[in-house]
Parts: sequence; C-alpha cells; structure tokens
Amino acid sequence: MPVNIPADDALRRLQDGNRRFATDTRNADNLSSLTRRALMVGQQPFAIILGCSDSRVPAEIIFDQGLGDLFVIRVGGNIVAPSQIGSVEFAADQFGTRLVVVLGHSQCGVVTATLKELQAPDHMHSRNLRSIVDRVRPSLEGLLKTDLVHDPDALLREAVRANVRVSANQLRHGSEVLERLIDRDGLHVVGAEYSLESGLVDFFDGVYGS
Ligand SMILES: [Zn+2]
Repeated sequence: MPVNIPADDALRRLQDGNRRFATDTRNADNLSSLTRRALMVGQQPFAIILGCSDSRVPAEIIFDQGLGDLFVIRVGGNIVAPSQIGSVEFAADQFGTRLVVVLGHSQCGVVTATLKELQAPDHMHSRNLRSIVDRVRPSLEGLLKTDLVHDPDALLREAVRANVRVSANQLRHGSEVLERLIDRDGLHVVGAEYSLESGLVDFFDGVYGS
C-alpha cells in the first residue's frame, strides 16, 4: 500500500490552508496550474474530502490546496450512499490517504429542504432528490422534538452538525474496508463545518481535544 502522510499532519495542512484562505493570503504555488500540472505523473492526495455540492464551498479553494492535493467527493448535503463509501475506499486504498473529512457548511440548502420536508411534508420532490433528503432526515428527526423548533436559525445550525456527525459515523462503521483501515492503518474520519460567514472551517467531530 502506498505511504502517505499521517492523518494528524494532513489535518494540520488543511487547517493552515484554511487560515490562509480566510485571511486572503492564498499560496501562489497552489494557484499555479503550470507548476502543478508538470508534476502530474501520478497522484497522492493527502486528504479525502466528502463535501456538499454548494457552489460556495469548493474544497480546494477553502483549504488553499492545488492540483493533486485533495481527493474530493461532492454531493448535495454531503450524504453517504454506497458510491460515496466506494470512492473513499478507493482513495484510501490506492493512494494511502489517511485523513477523511466530512465537510458540511452553514446555511446548507439540502439540510434546510429536509427540515422543511419534516415540518410540512410535500410531495413535490423528484424521486432522485427524495433519495438525498431521505438520507439526511434520520439525523434531524430528533432535533424537531427539542426546543430548537422555536428557533429556526439555531435549529439549522444544529441540523448541519447532526448531519455531518451521522455521515462521519456512516463512513466509520458502514464499510469493512474502512473499519479495518481505521483499526490497523491509521485512517481517521473527522467531521467539520465551513462557515460561509467567516470563511473558517471548524473541525468539531472526531478530532482529539474537540
Ligand atoms: Zn449544502
């Protein structure tokens, strides 16, 4: 199996890159297409990112990384379905990548749509869109039984995080391949939220000390 950098180091690289992005001091080398394309004989991405498709949350930009650095899977609501698990398995196995980040974000449209659907079910969704909403729904149902229902902003904030936690746990426990890599080979799955407001990513789930 190819050797990649440890999960801790990968996490630090993402945190440093996000700080550069948030302070508008992005690294010119990472932005250069020519220098990076010249290196592309193979790839060894140091982190796998499962993020939302939202146009405001492109992983390479918000972590200030260049071509070849990140293996990115994007899907509405950063949900975990078999094809997402398969993609993570592929990268962890083929490239020895040891850090997986489930990346949600504030004001997520899919999470908002799911909350609306739970509070006032309508039958307008296509079957395909419903398959996404149905994967988000179980992580949010419990929240609607709390006082958060009276505070829509707080409810959405908690819902985004609950959805990230559930996706991260599905990656940790939904695949024998990933479980083995976690137990024996240092694979680490963490959950994070990107703030559209500040530009900062908060790694709040599965990180030591969080
Ligand atoms: Zn989203």
